Amino acid sequence: MSEQIAVSTRSTGEENGSGTRDVKQIHHWIAGKLVAGTSGRSGTVFNPATGERTGEVAFASAEEVDDAIAAAHAAFPEWRALSLARRAELFFRIRELLNEHRQELAQILTAEHGKVLSDALGEVARGLEVVEFACGIPSLLKGEFSEQVSTGVDVYSIRQPLGVVAGITPFNFPAMVPMWMWAPALACGNCFILKPSEKDPSASLLVAELLQKAGVPDGVFSVVMGDKVAVDRLLEHPDVAAVSFVGSTPIARSIYETGTRSGKRVQALGGAKNHMVVLPDADIDMAADAAVSAAYGSAGERCMAISVCVAVGDVADPLIDAITERIPKVQIGPGLEPGSEMGPLITREHRDKVASYIDRGRAQGAKVVADGRDIELDGDGFFLGASLLDDVTPEMDCYRDEIFGPVLSVVRARTYDEAVQLVNDNPYGNGTAIFTRDGGVARQFQFDVNTGMVGINVPIPVPVAYYSFGGWKASLFGDSHAYGPDSIHFYTRGKVVTSRWPDPATSRVDLGFPQTR
Ligand code: NAD
Repeated sequence: MSEQIAVSTRSTGEENGSGTRDVKQIHHWIAGKLVAGTSGRSGTVFNPATGERTGEVAFASAEEVDDAIAAAHAAFPEWRALSLARRAELFFRIRELLNEHRQELAQILTAEHGKVLSDALGEVARGLEVVEFACGIPSLLKGEFSEQVSTGVDVYSIRQPLGVVAGITPFNFPAMVPMWMWAPALACGNCFILKPSEKDPSASLLVAELLQKAGVPDGVFSVVMGDKVAVDRLLEHPDVAAVSFVGSTPIARSIYETGTRSGKRVQALGGAKNHMVVLPDADIDMAADAAVSAAYGSAGERCMAISVCVAVGDVADPLIDAITERIPKVQIGPGLEPGSEMGPLITREHRDKVASYIDRGRAQGAKVVADGRDIELDGDGFFLGASLLDDVTPEMDCYRDEIFGPVLSVVRARTYDEAVQLVNDNPYGNGTAIFTRDGGVARQFQFDVNTGMVGINVPIPVPVAYYSFGGWKASLFGDSHAYGPDSIHFYTRGKVVTSRWPDPATSRVDLGFPQTR
């Protein structure tokens, strides 16, 4: 049984004497302690399974962001000087503590995001893989060495941390996506400021406490809660060297443009519209299982969710029948209830927007095979059932927009070429998948498609931690993907040293341009 960390930020609310319950106040974490917000601005956090307001999160002012940056700036010289041996040791402790508290972390995710507990535990596990990757930092930071490039001259390359770096993260993976960023950033010797989503901010505070408990010095990791005000300050502050962003495409584009304009290194991962191509030779049951899992898992609120199924040739009818048969079996309910497989959406507004695509699809000519609004559940949670639209065409809103909910569109294509054309014409390029028994076609698909991640009979091809994660086109702005080798490159800069240790006996004055001798 893991020890529960007791801090006021995670209390569930107490009677306030007037018969109503106080919601918990969610603060910043700056310079190693909780700091109550002073801006007077805040946001509401809900339990999406009940619709209840459970928390009020402070929104940082520019001055509060400055405090976090100043703490990070002050902590940097000592942190970057910590030996690789000590840093690796510390990361092993971080890994152990996060692992001990994985249940508690997952419960916070379920309470604020709504995803079912098993999915929340899966999120923590995938995030932990990146922490495990960061434990290998001594090997990851190895440079190159060339002996005797000239007589008595050696050259070597080293990589050094950038300084203070920031991460801005989305609501859909409140633990894992921050881990994609802070784990490699800290391991490389940077100080890190996290601005998590204001919709489910509490997981970041538990992580902050655990990092402190593991021995990360105060100021090395801070959390500023908030909105555009906090983000804008991080983007303009001269002491922030780099910004990692994950979120929707319009914000990603603007973060990239603003950050790079002020001279920062920026990686900004955006939205997605992931196509799953099913060829006529595919195993129908396997493809239907995969489509249902990848479209409706986490209520479709995954950037790698399958939102379009491209049914090639005569596979469409049997595939739709197989998916339709599976839909009523998806257990929808609160994430903490045993047996629930799909939880609610993040907010009421988002649920209603997602649901609106069903009528819009019908009005634009799609056939509504399953309407998620038909589900019957007690209470006021933000639920929407699994929805399926057939005969979708590229002009329809349900095809063009990233819906980010449990609405799967089926587009019928006559040929493999038509299917690939659809994937490549789409402005997004995060992931895609093909289902087939033909290895040659699968290999051709991997060659043909313009996306950053490809699954072959794998619907959600999120790379393991020692590869990097990222899309193409409007799914990523910047050159570096997240975690894996790209992250080590992103969070460091290179230096090349040319050194001579001459034998004093051969030393002489030489005014010529240095030659390779
Ligand atoms: P979002 O873009 O609304 O918010 C992301 C972050 O940006 C949050 O921290 C938010 O507070 C901040 N933000 C919002 N508006 C801002 C503004 N005007 N200026 C500055 N900052 C702002 O995204 P979301 O709704 O939290 O997350 C869902 C989106 O994230 C989807 O589009 C999804 O595809 C995407 N996503 C992408 C990946 C990926 O790896 N490509 C992974 C997860 C999520």
